[in-house]
Amino acid sequence: MFDINKIREDFPILNRKIYGKPLVYLDNGATVQKPRCVVDKIEELYYTCNANIHRGVHTLSQEATELTEQARKKVQAFINAKHSHEIIFTKGTTESINLVASSFCRRFCKEGDEIIVSAMEHHANIVPWQIEGDISGVKLKVIPINEKGELILEEFEKLISPKTRLVSVTHVSNVLGTINPIEKIIDIAHRHGIPVLIDAAQSVQHIPVDVQQLDCDFLAFSSHKIYGPTGVGVLYGKEEFLNRMPPYQGGGEMIGHVSFKGTTYNELPFKFEAGTPNYIDVIALGTALDYVLSVGLEQIKEHEDYLLHYCTSKLQEIDGIRFFGTSLNKSSVISFLVGNIHHYDMGMMLDKMGIAVRTGHHCAQPLMEELGIEGTVRASFAVYNTKEEVDIFVDGVNRIVGMFK
Ligand code: PLP
Repeated sequence: MFDINKIREDFPILNRKIYGKPLVYLDNGATVQKPRCVVDKIEELYYTCNANIHRGVHTLSQEATELTEQARKKVQAFINAKHSHEIIFTKGTTESINLVASSFCRRFCKEGDEIIVSAMEHHANIVPWQIEGDISGVKLKVIPINEKGELILEEFEKLISPKTRLVSVTHVSNVLGTINPIEKIIDIAHRHGIPVLIDAAQSVQHIPVDVQQLDCDFLAFSSHKIYGPTGVGVLYGKEEFLNRMPPYQGGGEMIGHVSFKGTTYNELPFKFEAGTPNYIDVIALGTALDYVLSVGLEQIKEHEDYLLHYCTSKLQEIDGIRFFGTSLNKSSVISFLVGNIHHYDMGMMLDKMGIAVRTGHHCAQPLMEELGIEGTVRASFAVYNTKEEVDIFVDGVNRIVGMFK
C-alpha cells in the first residue's frame, strides 16, 4: 500500500525549514530530492568500493566494474531495452541529445536535410540541432501546438519530406505537462522510414516506458529527475543505429587500438563512453530505479495525478488565473500566471513562505514566444508531495494575489 508518511521518511531534506516554515518542495520538474538509500549507496561505494572501472585487474576495480554493468542491466530492464549494450551512460539528457545530434548528423545528414522537433521542446532538444546546423547544414522544422498545449499531429505529417532525417520530440513537456502521443508520432515517422528520438527527461519518473513496445530509435533521460544523483544520464539507442554512428568523444575506454597512423574503436556501449565514467553515480542510479520500482510507478502516477487534479481545481478558484497547458492527457506539472503579477515576484514571495516553485522560461524560450509570455510560475509534483502541501501552496498563492490587489 502507498504510505505517504513512510515515503516522506525516506527523504530527510523534507524536514528542512525555509524562513522558519516547513519546506514545501514543488520544483520537482527541475530536479527531485533523493531518498536516503541513494545517498547511502554513494557513501558506501566511496568508502568500500571506489576504483576506476574497466582498466584494473585488482579486486576493487573489478567489483566497481561489475556493479556498473549491473546498473546498466537495471536501466535496460527499466525501459525494456533488447540489449544492455544499447544503454549508454552520459551526463544527462542534454548530453544524450548532444551525442545523437553530433554523431547522427555526421553519419546520416547533409546540407539541407531536416530534423523535426516540436514547439514545446526544452532547449536541450533545440540547440544541439542548431549547433549541428552550423556544421552539417541540417535545418529544424517545428510541429505546432494548439491552444491546450497539444501537438497538432496533422501538421506533423505535413512537415515530413524526403529530406527529413530524424524526428526528435519530448514525451512530456516540462512547461505544459502535456503527455505527447509518442506512439502515434513514432508510427507516422516509421511509415515514412524516419527514426525517432524521445526526450524522456520528464516522463520516465511518472510513466512506465517500454522502448521495444514504443519502437523508438533513441531515448534520453536524466538520473537526477528520477530520484538518482546528478551528473548521470542515459541514452538508449537501437543497436543498428549506434553501431553505424561514429564516436562522440575520444579517449579512455572508447578505443580499440590507438596509433599515430590511426585508431580503431571499441564496441558498444564503450564506443560512446569516453573518459572515466561517473561510475559511482551510475551505480546509485541503479539504486534509485530499485527505489522507484519498490514504490511502484503506477502508484507514483496515481498519487501525482491526484495532486495534479486537486491542485488544479483549487487554483481554478483564483480570479484572473491563466493556465498554460490544459490537455486532458497531462503529467503533474502546473504552469500559470495570475493577473499582472510577475512570475519572479510570485516565486520570491512563495519562497518566503517556505514554498519552492520554479519561475521563468523553463529553458523553453521558443514556447514562451509562442504563448506570448516571458515566463510562468511552475509547480510540479513528486512521489513525496502531499495534499496538505498543495493546500499550503494554494493558500500562499491566494495570499500573494490578495497583497497585489
Ligand atoms: N528535456 C526536458 C524535457 C527537460 O525538462 C530537461 C530538464 O529540465 C532536459 C531535457 C535537460 O535535462 P538535463 O539538464 O538533466 O540534461
